[in-house]
Amino acid sequence: MRKDRLTYYRKKLVEKHRQLVEEVGKSALYGKGQEDDSIKDLGDQATTAYTREFLFELGNGDRRLLKEVVTALQKIDEGTFGACERCGETIAEKRLEALPFARYCIGCQRLVEQEERMATG
Ligand SMILES: [Zn+2]
Repeated sequence: MRKDRLTYYRKKLVEKHRQLVEEVGKSALYGKGQEDDSIKDLGDQATTAYTREFLFELGNGDRRLLKEVVTALQKIDEGTFGACERCGETIAEKRLEALPFARYCIGCQRLVEQEERMATG
């Protein structure tokens, strides 16, 4: 991949990284607050449990994404950025434009998602 494209994606990734660090920090703080006295104040136990679960999942998703962004930045440094981790083919620029942290080409992404679905039932 050309150097100016790599610089472009690095910029995008660094920006995404900054956003996620903020989000993960915020949800961690919020989650902590929920565990204290706010539960009693809300009264509705079912709603509270649901909200906590939702926040927990959101936090996990962000953390997972953050890890992928960091991995993508490492790949730029290593010179392997833009190659599918599964088949080694170059990931389409259009896909990288939307998801600069994508690990797989579109074909492999589908297969990986199918496998994940099967693994979790
Ligand atoms: Zn692939």
